[in-house]
Amino acid sequence: VLIDGIGLLVTNDPAMGAGPLGEIRDAAVAIDGDRIAWVGPASAAPEGVDGDRLDAAGGCVLPGFVDPHTHLVFAGDRSAEFAARLAGRAYDAGGIRATVAATRAADMGTLLDNAKRLAGEALKGGTTTLEVKSGYGLDVPTERRSLEVAAALGEAPVLPRVSPTFLGAHVVPPEFEGRSDDYIALVCGEMLDACTPLAEWCDVFCERGAFDPDQSRTVLVAGHSRGLGVRVHANQLAHGPGAQLAAELAAVSADHLTHLTEPDIEALASAGVVATLLPTAELCTREPPGPARRLLEAGATVALGTDCNPGTSYTTSMPFVIALACHLLRMTPAEALAAATSGGAAALGDATGGRLVPGSPADAVLLDAPSYVHLAYRPGVNLVSSVVLRGERVVQVA
Ligand SMILES: [Zn+2]
Repeated sequence: VLIDGIGLLVTNDPAMGAGPLGEIRDAAVAIDGDRIAWVGPASAAPEGVDGDRLDAAGGCVLPGFVDPHTHLVFAGDRSAEFAARLAGRAYDAGGIRATVAATRAADMGTLLDNAKRLAGEALKGGTTTLEVKSGYGLDVPTERRSLEVAAALGEAPVLPRVSPTFLGAHVVPPEFEGRSDDYIALVCGEMLDACTPLAEWCDVFCERGAFDPDQSRTVLVAGHSRGLGVRVHANQLAHGPGAQLAAELAAVSADHLTHLTEPDIEALASAGVVATLLPTAELCTREPPGPARRLLEAGATVALGTDCNPGTSYTTSMPFVIALACHLLRMTPAEALAAATSGGAAALGDATGGRLVPGSPADAVLLDAPSYVHLAYRPGVNLVSSVVLRGERVVQVA
């Protein structure tokens, strides 16, 4: 496949073109199988490509978006709770329990159909890789079933790639009310035994109303000892110990980070923990915008994700997240685009992903716009005209 007619190509590799995004004007991309074979100026494109041609019509071509934080496996609807919150009721972590009840009652087919619908929606918005968490089961069979749904999503041919995370320590389920240490023992024992074979990552919600730092550390150390990578929901609703815990354990990513002190920022940056910011969650819970500028200035790697979940951020749209990152978090369009592609890959432990360079996965987004700047300039407008996944065009807007 040869993609030509590219007005502006973002390679995300400064060695390949101009600026930090490695931009090439009037470019072409050659794909061999599911990998990028060549990128460069169209005038130097390889001759005699006998595969399909994909005309970008002068638009901008980007690496596919990498969304490193989603809760796609759930059942039920929380629009009534959401409306109540818009009318002034405070958000606390307990709203998750309504989804837990619906998820436990749902069979595998129901959970998979819902997750497929959302993953398909994400793909249409340009997302080619998704992290997918469990965490609405909170018992051994439903946590296991949730990760089986994530695995089935990952095997579907025309859906984004999936990186699965075990989040048994999301909140304390109702039957363990007042016995959170007993629940932690279940998570670290039988639940991890059942879930580890299906997960790459172990996550924990370290927040007042969820788990304290000692409980969170116990879960993450248990997951790590079984070979899982570590990620943390940290400092979302108030300042707390989650960011420091992520730095202490050299987590691959600390997520949310709405409320950070300077020592937190220094600890994350010096430990090499990716700071995954979720501005749609801040928007929908009316929290202040996260400290993206301070993190970037401290040299931290920043990623952007949707936090897609039925309570506090029910969106799959990375273009919308990029727009919010520019308008609310004061990131530049180039910083936001990097955070939504290579930053997301870094948050999933892939230091070279989210790029369009020879040898990288052939996952790309074609925009009906001359530049990625339009993702912020035209908030809420779907500018994705085509998506290429594993070397094949899987989404085309007529
Ligand atoms: Zn989350």
